[in-house]
Amino acid sequence: MTPADIWTSARTLSPGLGIATVYRALRILMDMGAVEVVEIPGAPPHYERKHPHHHHHFLCETCQRVFEVEACTSGIDQLAPAGFTVKRHSLTLYGVCNDPSCAHRPAVAPLA
Ligand SMILES: [Zn+2]
Ligand SMILES: [Zn+2]
Repeated sequence: MTPADIWTSARTLSPGLGIATVYRALRILMDMGAVEVVEIPGAPPHYERKHPHHHHHFLCETCQRVFEVEACTSGIDQLAPAGFTVKRHSLTLYGVCNDPSCAHRPAVAPLA
């Protein structure tokens, strides 16, 4: 979720909540190691619960929501030139999510 998404849903419970409070809470949760920031090219920073396991993300270019992808492709490390050592990778899938309203709307232009 983006801080704005969190703010929108938190205000249904606490209407007077300010967005600065959301940022402060996220900072505390990140310091605790409970939450991490997901940097996705073309999307604002999203925050998610920290996972110990390797995973990827899917960005819906229509609603701009980010989904977790549990699978990883095998052989991605072999894409590096001969003699190079891959230590980590990041992979983002871009497309349209399964929300019926997304399938019929044109994608918004990427931010970056
Ligand atoms: Zn969507
Ligand atoms: Zn992977």
